Amino acid sequence: MESAGRFAGGLLRAQALAPAGGDAAAALPRQPGVVREGTGALFGRSCQPRQSAPWAGALAGGMMRKLSVGAALAAMVLCAPALASTCFGNSGSGRIEGAVALPLAGPNFAAYSELGLKLGRTWVHAQVRDVVLGAYSTLSRSTPDVQYVYGETSLRTGGPMPPHRTHENGTSVDFMVPVRGRDGRPAPLPRTAQNRYGYDLEFDDAGKLADLCIDFAAIAAHLAQLDVEVRRHGFGIARVILEPAYIPRVLATPAGQRIKSLPFMKTKPWVRHDEHYHVDFAVKCAG
Ligand SMILES: [Zn+2]
Repeated sequence: MESAGRFAGGLLRAQALAPAGGDAAAALPRQPGVVREGTGALFGRSCQPRQSAPWAGALAGGMMRKLSVGAALAAMVLCAPALASTCFGNSGSGRIEGAVALPLAGPNFAAYSELGLKLGRTWVHAQVRDVVLGAYSTLSRSTPDVQYVYGETSLRTGGPMPPHRTHENGTSVDFMVPVRGRDGRPAPLPRTAQNRYGYDLEFDDAGKLADLCIDFAAIAAHLAQLDVEVRRHGFGIARVILEPAYIPRVLATPAGQRIKSLPFMKTKPWVRHDEHYHVDFAVKCAG
C-alpha cells in the first residue's frame, strides 16, 4: 500500500511499547476505540511484512494443511483488508458507518485527552484518518520539534455530539493550536479537566496567553500538509475555521503561500476558534 510507510512512526512507537516478541497491537491501551482501531490498523498494515516473513513461505509451500482450521481462519482475518468507512449526510447533519478511531499518540502528536478517546469522541472516516496521520508523519520529519495535538472528531456512528454543531459524520477534525513558550521553543498546550482539555483556553487577538504564543507557522505548515494529503487521496478540504484575527498571521508565515486558497470561513464563527482550528474534509459521502 502506498501509505503503509507513512504509518511507520506510529508503528515504531507501538512496537517500542510492546513486550519483547509480542505483537505491537497488544501494547495498545485497552480501552474502547483505541483497542479496536489500533489493532485493526496495525494488523492491516502489518500484513505485508507478515507475508514475507520466513514462516510465510513455509505456509505457502504446504504447511498450511498442518495448521488447524482455526489457525488458518485467524490468519485470514488478520490479513483481511480494512473495511472502508461510509459517511452519510454532511458534517452538520449526518452519520457514519465503519468509522475508525485516531490513535492516542504518535511521535509528534497526541490526542487532546485520553478521556476523550475513552468516551469515543475521536472517530473519523478512514480516509480522514489516513490524511491526518499522513500529515503528521511528514511533519515529524520536516519540523520534528513541534508537537501537535488533535481535538474532538466524531462519535463512532456519528450524529450529534454536543457541544459541537457539526462533527456529525466523521469528516470534521478539531486541531488544538501548537504553542511556543517565552523562550520561543515549542511548549505543551496546557490540557486539564479544568480547562476542558484545552478548549477553554482563551488567547488574545495576537495569539498570546500568559507565557504562551500560538505557533502560527506550525499551523500553516500543518494545513499545507493536510492539503497535500487530501489531494493525494483524491479529495479536498471543504472548510477551515480559525479565529479571523489569526488568518493573516497564519498566511504571513513561510507556508502561508501554500494555503492562501484554502476555504477559510470568512464570517464570525458561533464560538471563538482561538484555541483550536476546525477542518471539514470533503470526503465523498453516500446520500
Ligand atoms: Zn470543530
